[in-house]
Amino acid sequence: MSLKYPMVDLYGQYLKIKPEIDAALQDVLDETAFIQGPAVKQFSKNLADYLRVKHVIPCGNGTDALQLALMALDLQPGDEVITTPFTFIATAEVIALLNLKPVFVDVLPDTYTIDPSKIEQVVTEKTKAIIPVHLFGQVADMSSIMSMARKYGLSVVEDTAQALGAEMECSDGKKYKAGTVGNIGCTSFFPSKNLGAFGDGGAVFTQDDKLAEKIAQLSNHGMKIRYHHDYIGINSRLDTLQAAVLNVKLKYLDEYALTRQKAAVIYDRAFSGNPKLATPAVAPFTNHVYHQYTLRLTGIDRAGLMDYLSAKGIASAIYYPVPLHLQKAYTSFGYRKGDFPVAELLSDQVISLPIHTEMTDEIQQDIVNAVLDYVNKN
Ligand SMILES: *Cc1c(COP(=O)(O)O)cnc(C)c1O
Repeated sequence: MSLKYPMVDLYGQYLKIKPEIDAALQDVLDETAFIQGPAVKQFSKNLADYLRVKHVIPCGNGTDALQLALMALDLQPGDEVITTPFTFIATAEVIALLNLKPVFVDVLPDTYTIDPSKIEQVVTEKTKAIIPVHLFGQVADMSSIMSMARKYGLSVVEDTAQALGAEMECSDGKKYKAGTVGNIGCTSFFPSKNLGAFGDGGAVFTQDDKLAEKIAQLSNHGMKIRYHHDYIGINSRLDTLQAAVLNVKLKYLDEYALTRQKAAVIYDRAFSGNPKLATPAVAPFTNHVYHQYTLRLTGIDRAGLMDYLSAKGIASAIYYPVPLHLQKAYTSFGYRKGDFPVAELLSDQVISLPIHTEMTDEIQQDIVNAVLDYVNKN
């Protein structure tokens, strides 16, 4: 079903930069260098410059980026990796796939990111890493997470699939791009992400020369010299066609973030103060690039609101309806309902509204009016 006001408008975004994108794609077609062509190397350099990070290793998608990061850390089966239960499945999936144990820690009720004050109590001798997720576009409390990691000798892998371009201030007073504070950062270029390709794509970044070299090898069958395999690796490379698209779109990433931020201000103004709606909080140490604009509803029938919006041609979505510790495939890890009350409550209360680079005041006013109509009548 195609709605008048979808969650994202990728076609509208493409049309604005069509000549540039089409030319970049044509260049790749003319070169027919589809695997590891020049645009991939160029993109790796461009993104590294943008992030102010030493190494960027492009790969096949954001899930692979997380998997490659964990593979590079030399973890042993049964080792524990701390993460949040309120995220996209990929974060915990790679932990489980590598025969590691996902250890969940509840999230904060206002920013929806991992609660650093609850990390210490789950650290054991087997704990080896933490994967904070910069959910919906804002950075988790990295200063607290890093000090915990230093205290217990843990590696930190940042999942910044939803927050590429966000910036945080650390306890040293310096500013860092999301994903560049921990040992390894991971992102996704899934088309609807803030920097979206025209298909799958992802990247891993790090300041560490050794990790960078290992991740690059792991992503290409564990080989440095062709047909000589130093590691058991995977096949996860960014397509040259996708790199060509991303080279163009990276130039617009900050402008895209501004458009999203402007839209968020309009939503915030319209909804804040309403006792049935909690607008998304932004932590003081980070900005927010609004991959999603996610409200919490109290005393409102969420399904009813979604139906009402849908009848007016307005999309809405629930990210995420089931926290990861209650997912069927993860029951063997022994978690139960009630273990993470904040994540469980959020799963029942959140609703995400359309927010994207092609928002106009007109679109937004229609959405705001529809939401307030329903909320005030019910
Ligand atoms: C999208 C996403 C991923 C996975 O990225 P893919 O490119 O779809 O594999 C991982 N973590 C989070 C938080 C995401 O939103």
